Amino acid sequence: MTATLRQLPSVDRVLNELAIQALLPFYGHRLTVAAIRRTLDRVREEVRAGGEPPSLEAVVARAVAYLRDELVPTLRPVINATGVVVHTNLGRAPLSAAARAAMDGVARGYSNLEYDLAAGRRGHRTVHAERLLCELTGAEAALVVNNNAGAVLLALTVMARGKGVLISRGQLIEIGGGFRIPEVMAQSGARLVEVGTTNRTHRRDYERALAEEPDIALILYAHTSNFRIVGFTAEVPLPELVEIGQACGVPVMADLGSGALLDTAAFGLAHEPTAQESIAAGAAVVCFSGDKLLGGPQAGIIVGRAQYVELMKRHPLARALRADKLCLAGLQATLMHYLREEATEQIPVWRMIAAPVEELERRARRWRRALARAGIRAEVVEGRSTVGGGSLPGETLPTRLLALRLPDPDRAAAALRRHDPPVIARIEEDRLVLDPRTVLPEEEPVLLRALVEVLG
Ligand SMILES: *Cc1c(COP(=O)(O)O)cnc(C)c1O
Repeated sequence: MTATLRQLPSVDRVLNELAIQALLPFYGHRLTVAAIRRTLDRVREEVRAGGEPPSLEAVVARAVAYLRDELVPTLRPVINATGVVVHTNLGRAPLSAAARAAMDGVARGYSNLEYDLAAGRRGHRTVHAERLLCELTGAEAALVVNNNAGAVLLALTVMARGKGVLISRGQLIEIGGGFRIPEVMAQSGARLVEVGTTNRTHRRDYERALAEEPDIALILYAHTSNFRIVGFTAEVPLPELVEIGQACGVPVMADLGSGALLDTAAFGLAHEPTAQESIAAGAAVVCFSGDKLLGGPQAGIIVGRAQYVELMKRHPLARALRADKLCLAGLQATLMHYLREEATEQIPVWRMIAAPVEELERRARRWRRALARAGIRAEVVEGRSTVGGGSLPGETLPTRLLALRLPDPDRAAAALRRHDPPVIARIEEDRLVLDPRTVLPEEEPVLLRALVEVLG
């Protein structure tokens, strides 16, 4: 056996193989040698356990696989062909060219992140994006934090710690990734006071709770982002909640979840509440995500009355949740698209939502022709895209899909996921389907190459 073990190639011998040398520029010497060592350790164990000693080629192949599979950076770009525009698992909103350029601009060097250029001394990062957000939403003040879960936590902590918060039972939501209103409420130190029932909550339910419960500091309105109750239902609309609160001097906070700055109804979808109409309705504080329908980087945006927002800026939690310079730069550039009224042309999620079905059909046909030239049969069929990202549950947009009938569609989908870059498709009625709506035009050549490689 020792003789067999001695037959195994040395680290240097493997390192000198061409296939390994080709990987050196990317992985570097240290990591490559570590991969070879670990591969040889495993091989030695297998031989000791009675296995056949592998050939040099086999050892090289395993070391290459080890590097590729176990030591690559794990986060990487993928092509989203699912037709879900704001796909939380796929990184939510792709950013506009201007947003990416703005982020690159502050990333490559220094910036005035916390520097007052006029005065030549320390400034505040909270000034960035604030005026743009106020201009867009009509709010008095704004604050950007790490994400919307953080925004809700900060707002509840500042406005209602140690006090009661009214919320309809129909709005005690859980969204993906472990965000549950009752748990965030508990973290904030506020006391949850449920009103009404799961399917119906009325004005009188809030009024009774306000009369009976001591110390109510806030009424919370949470957008039921990812589900819809149908049938015998009732909720009190935000303007009426504001009225109810005003009668007892209790402010109303709206967690819009996705939130929107454009009217989704203009694109054949249901109306998603916008930040500006929630402010106009009299909400004291409104929070929403930066990377859902806004189409920007991950952020939590708080807009509302200065008396509350100023307290939030000074709270220690705000320091823990603060947005970084890349986020602020990307957000500012994204907001500028709305102010210049070019959101549907420049912001990828809005361009996708606004894409006319004729354009999607043309793209799907072009894909079909390209595959036909490679001898792969596909058809263009009618389908539906969804907006996703905790907005517009049950709402869809008509689209055209490239559909492939394959002996084993699940296996094809898995092979596409393993491709570099990975392609994420859908299976529908036993067919592999790809939706051009969420594939960026510049990704098309890569996508078609992946399809030919995997399916050809
Ligand atoms: C998505 C969502 C959140 C959390 O937002 P993140 O930006 O993911 O932290 C909070 N509330 C509602 C209603 C949501 O839809």
